[in-house]
Amino acid sequence: MLYYCIFARMNLADIATVKSILSQPQNVVIVPHKNPDGDAMGSCLGLCIFLKGKGHKAHVIAPNDYPKFLKWLPGNDEVLNFERENQEAKIRIDEATVIFTLDFNDLSRCGQMEPILSRLETDFIMIDHHQQPCDYARVAYSDVSMSSTCEMVYNFIEFMGELNSINTDIATNLYAGIMTDTGSFKYRSTSSRTHRVVADLMDKGADNMEIHRQVFDTNSQSRLHLLGVALSNMVILNEYRTAYITLSQAELDEHDFKKGDTEGFVNYGLTLEGIIFAVIFIENKEEGIIKISFRSVGDFSVNEFARKHFNGGGHDNAAGGRSEDSMKETLNKFSAILETYKDKLNP
Ligand code: 5GP
Ligand code: MN
Repeated sequence: MLYYCIFARMNLADIATVKSILSQPQNVVIVPHKNPDGDAMGSCLGLCIFLKGKGHKAHVIAPNDYPKFLKWLPGNDEVLNFERENQEAKIRIDEATVIFTLDFNDLSRCGQMEPILSRLETDFIMIDHHQQPCDYARVAYSDVSMSSTCEMVYNFIEFMGELNSINTDIATNLYAGIMTDTGSFKYRSTSSRTHRVVADLMDKGADNMEIHRQVFDTNSQSRLHLLGVALSNMVILNEYRTAYITLSQAELDEHDFKKGDTEGFVNYGLTLEGIIFAVIFIENKEEGIIKISFRSVGDFSVNEFARKHFNGGGHDNAAGGRSEDSMKETLNKFSAILETYKDKLNP
C-alpha cells in the first residue's frame, strides 16, 4: 500500500483527510473541464457511481455540452449541464459539502462555472494529470506521469481500500476514459500499470470491444466528409517537421458540424513520416475564437508552446489553446512563431 502511495503520488496525510471527509455522508458535486472529453466524463461518472454506492449524494455537473459518442456512458442521463440546467446546477453547488474537480487543475478551465466555484468556501478535491496545477484544492492528487484521470480515479478507489466496490458501470466509465486519453493504449504515458488497471477493469465487467465500438465506430457520414475536407486542407511544412489543418466555420456548417466531430483529426498529421508537430485550427464564430489543438511526438513540448503563445496548456505531447484573432492572422502569427522554433523542431 505504502509503495503504491509513493508510486502514484498521493500522500498518506491526504488519503487520511479524504477518508475522514468521506466517513460521513456528503453532498458531492463532481466537475469536469469545459468541453469534456472521454477521460473527463469517464472519471466523473466513475467516481460519481462509486460515491453513491458508498452512501453519498453525488452529482456530475458539466460546464457545457459534450459529444454524442460519450452520451452512452453509464450514469450519463443524470449529468447536469451548467449551461442548460443552470438553476438546478446552482442549487446542487450551493448544497455541496465537497467538490471534486477532475481532469483539470485551473478553475479557468471550467468556463461559466469559474466565477461561482472560485468564490466558494467548500472543500475541493482535485484529481488530475495536467501540468502546473493551481492551488485551489484542500487535497490535490496531481500526477503528470499518469495516463489519464480515470487511471487516477482507479488508484483513488484503491487508496480508499475499496477496489472491490468497482462494479461494471464504474469499470466501463474508467475503461472508456483510459482508452480515449491514451489513444487506445499507445501514448507514452501508457505504463505497464495502466495495462494492469485496464485488465482489472475488464475483470470487473468492462466490455472492451463494445466500449471501443461506442466511442469510435458510431461515425456520421457528414463527419467522415468533414475529415476529408480537413485532410485536403492539411499544410505540410517539412522544414519545421510540422503539419497543420484548418477548418473554417463555413466548412463546419456545410458538414452539419456537431460537437466532437473533429475529435482526433489533429492526430493525422503525426502519421506522416518525419512530422513531429501537428496542429489543427478550428474556427468558432459563436465564441469569436479559433480553437487550437497541438500534438507532438518526442521531446517537443506542446504544453509549453500552447501556454506561451496561445493562452492554453495541457501535456507535453497533447495540448490545446485559443486565438481571438481571425484565422488568417492566427496562421500568420503561428508561422512567425514556428520560425523561432526551427532548431527545437530539428534537434
Ligand atoms: P484538445 O486539443 O484535445 O482539446 O486537448 C488536449 C489536452 O490539452 C487535453 O488534456 C486538454 O485538457 C488540454 N487543453 C485543451 N485546451 C486547453 C486550454 O485552453 N488550456 C489548458 N490549460 N489546457 C487545455
Ligand atoms: Mn485527461
